[in-house]
Amino acid sequence: MKSLPRTIETIITPEPVTEGAGVRLKRSIGTRTLNYLDPFLLLDHFASNDPRDYEAGFPLHPHRGIETVTYLLRGEVRHRDTLGNSGSIGAGDAQWMTAGRGIMHEEMPQVRPEGIAGFQLWVNLPAKLKMTKPRYQDIRADQIPEIKKDGGARIRVVTGTVDGVRGPVTDIAADPSYLDVSVPAHGSFTHPIERGHSAFAYVFEGSAQFGSPDHAAGAAIASPSLVVLGDGDAVQVTTGESPTRFLLVSGRPLHEPIARYGPFVMNTQTEIEQTLLELRQGTFVTT
Ligand code: MN
Repeated sequence: MKSLPRTIETIITPEPVTEGAGVRLKRSIGTRTLNYLDPFLLLDHFASNDPRDYEAGFPLHPHRGIETVTYLLRGEVRHRDTLGNSGSIGAGDAQWMTAGRGIMHEEMPQVRPEGIAGFQLWVNLPAKLKMTKPRYQDIRADQIPEIKKDGGARIRVVTGTVDGVRGPVTDIAADPSYLDVSVPAHGSFTHPIERGHSAFAYVFEGSAQFGSPDHAAGAAIASPSLVVLGDGDAVQVTTGESPTRFLLVSGRPLHEPIARYGPFVMNTQTEIEQTLLELRQGTFVTT
C-alpha cells in the first residue's frame, strides 16, 4: 500500500474562553466550531505572566467518563482530589488522569515569577471503560524521553513511539500519541501516524508548513493554531525563517454516541442524568 501523506483538513483559530473560577485560556477543541475530534473532546491552551489570568484556578469539580491530560511548559499546578490523591505538576511534567467512574478534584495554578503555560486535553473513554476505576499517571519531566532527529527536530515523547523509543504513559484505550515537537528554522520533521487515527497539530510557537513533499508547500501556519490533519500514514512538517514548536497528537476514534454535559461525557442522556442524581445524593465519588 502506497504511503499517503496527511494534509491539512482544517485550520482552527483558538477561541478565548474563561473557565474554572476565572482562568483565561484559548480553546480549540470543544467549541461550536469544532465540538470534538473523536476521541479528543477538548483542548485548552493557557499561557500568561499575569496572575489575574490564572490564580483563581479550577476549584473542586467533578469528572466522569473521560481522561484529562495536563502538560505544563512553565509554572506549577497543584492538584488534590477527594479520594486522597494530591501532587504538583511542574514545568515539563505531564499528568494523564483517567477519571473513569468519578473524580472530584481541584487544579490550582500557583502564582510564580515565570507565570504559567501549558495545555489540557480531554480524551474520551470507550463505553466499556467509562465507569472504570480512576487512575493517575504522573510523569516527571526527566521521565519524558527527548529524541533528537537529523535535521534538528527535538521531540518529547509523552506517549506513543518515536524511533523505537516509547513514552512513559501507557495502557490508554485510545492508543494515543502525544508529542511535543520543536523544529528549528529551515528544518523538517516527518512522523508516521496510523491510518484511521484522528490527528492534530497545535502550533504554539513560530510557524510551520504541513503537507506532502510531492506537493507545493502550503502557507505557513502561525501560532496559535490548531491544524486538523486528514487521514493518511505520515505527517510532514517544514519550517522557513521561523522555528516552530507544536503538540502532535493522534488517537483511535471510538465512533460511539456522545452525551456531554460540562465535565461529564457519557454515551446517553440517561447516564448523564444518573451522574447528576449521584452528585445531588452525594454518592458520586465512591472508593
Ligand atoms: Mn479537572
